[in-house]
Amino acid sequence: MNNAQFYFARPENEPVYSYSKGTDERIALDEELKKHSKQKNEIPLIIGGKEIYTGKTGKVVCPHDHNNVLATYHNATDKEINMAIEAAMKAHEHWATISWIERVSITLKIAELISTKYRYLMNAVTMLGQGKNAYQSEIEAVCETVDFLRFNAHYVSEIYDDQPHSEKSNLNRVEYRPLEGFVFAVSPFNFTAIASNLCLAPAVVGNTVVWKPSNNALLSNYYLMKIFEEAGMPPGVINFIPGKGSEIGNIVLNHKDLGGVHFTGSNGTFNQIWKTVASNLENYKSYPRIVGETGGKDFIFVHSSANVKEVATALVRGAFEYQGQKCSAASRAYVPESLWEELKSQIGENIRLIKKGDVMDFCNFVNAVIDEKAYDKIMGYIQKAKDSDDAEIVFGGGGDKTKGYFIDPTVIEVKDPHFVTMEEEIFGPVVSIYVYKDEDYEKTLELCNNTSPFGLTGSIFSKDVSARTKACQVLRYAAGNFYFNDKPTGSVVGQQPFGGARQSGTNDKAGSYLNLLRWISPRSIKETYLPPTDFRYPYMYEEKCYR
Ligand code: NAD
Repeated sequence: MNNAQFYFARPENEPVYSYSKGTDERIALDEELKKHSKQKNEIPLIIGGKEIYTGKTGKVVCPHDHNNVLATYHNATDKEINMAIEAAMKAHEHWATISWIERVSITLKIAELISTKYRYLMNAVTMLGQGKNAYQSEIEAVCETVDFLRFNAHYVSEIYDDQPHSEKSNLNRVEYRPLEGFVFAVSPFNFTAIASNLCLAPAVVGNTVVWKPSNNALLSNYYLMKIFEEAGMPPGVINFIPGKGSEIGNIVLNHKDLGGVHFTGSNGTFNQIWKTVASNLENYKSYPRIVGETGGKDFIFVHSSANVKEVATALVRGAFEYQGQKCSAASRAYVPESLWEELKSQIGENIRLIKKGDVMDFCNFVNAVIDEKAYDKIMGYIQKAKDSDDAEIVFGGGGDKTKGYFIDPTVIEVKDPHFVTMEEEIFGPVVSIYVYKDEDYEKTLELCNNTSPFGLTGSIFSKDVSARTKACQVLRYAAGNFYFNDKPTGSVVGQQPFGGARQSGTNDKAGSYLNLLRWISPRSIKETYLPPTDFRYPYMYEEKCYR
């Protein structure tokens, strides 16, 4: 019916709204925040287009006010987990074979809904449920989500357009099939955009999905699911099943039709998932594709030629925005002795200006960390620094979980470059700083490279080009996203494809065509116009090598 050839041109990135006082967007967002901070949602499972209430419930609360219950959600039991797999497999028959233009059209409609009609709603529910300030939510829950969708439409066009060479006598084609089986999308609490992309990147190329959202991001993730449906996503293409990770994982990862895992979260969970898949290899129909983006121990490395004010700003933004709960957050820094005193005073001045509190007060740069478990873990690391002779708290160090899970932006100076806070992911507003002798620049680059098992993001601040070239060489595998004179957070879809290697994941670069390739299983088709009718080749006639 539709014989048009489509190509989706490279889009522009979604503009970021300012939410300055008095703007229309600020007024609209304020209204949504007021509404959703009081409204009590009931969040069902959504399987094959049907809402299911299991009665096995949990609560969604505000991190900045844990007595404020935003929603009650229903947990999947074994029965619903199996139903979700069946629904995904059933939907696969249709979704895998409809025109890709229809799939793209639905995903672009989702982008348009989030960019316009639901912009303030998506921000409000992400702010309240995941503890983000307006700017942090805007850049990801809205802009990054929309960018993933629009850029993926462009990347799909490019991928499908790539066809092999044909001779005069034949026609060669590559059919970009989705995987045979369903994709298990497992999303983290900290980015609404990632949750959306973990489901929709496989879906746009024809896969169907069983989605296990994080229980700490259920409010925004539920609304995402409702928007997918409003945009026309057919029943069963995405199946939304909140519940306990290990219970859902146990059933889904053991299923013979598991086609792939699209995961973002901690590397402990990812390693567990991979081990389960590895122990099941004989049972699967196909080898499952495993894509996982995991933790980080991201660094800022300062050369003596750096501008101190620029470094202080990058450190404060990189380490404390969203309370350091970004996989890319700056959590260790290497500073030359000659700059340290000045840098310390600049960081101190910045920290004194930071306001901390409720997400509904737009002045608060720092809000609460996600839950009590995270609070206790982060405070545990701070306590280790307080108790050690190898570390000193330079700024912050306090916390209070009476009303919300608030932790002061904390700077630790370490004497031992291998002190635990320099090596392990803390995932909170804590940055550790090691001061090195200026003449030990190259030696300290090696130290940075060998200090942590992760390899996600890193920055080098240097006005000296040869110093930064050296850093680029030594730190080649220390970060999948590397920055010159910028903070290590805030990658933008289509501009800095995101992901890291080592213990930070499979580096399949969300926000680029590279990620989409993992959800495709190509089939090559050769057609011969005039097939031969004699098995003998010409040389056989000449040499009479036949009877
Ligand atoms: P997490 O590992 O605790 O949880 C991630 C998801 O896995 C959740 O939905 C959870 O319920 C689920 N899960 C837990 N056990 C499971 C199991 N056995 N089987 C299947 N699913 C299971 O991570 P989190 O606390 O939600 O997120 C924070 C982590 O995510 C940090 O380590 C951070 O660095 C990482 N992260 C990485 C990136 C990246 O792009 N590299 C981006 C965002 C977050």
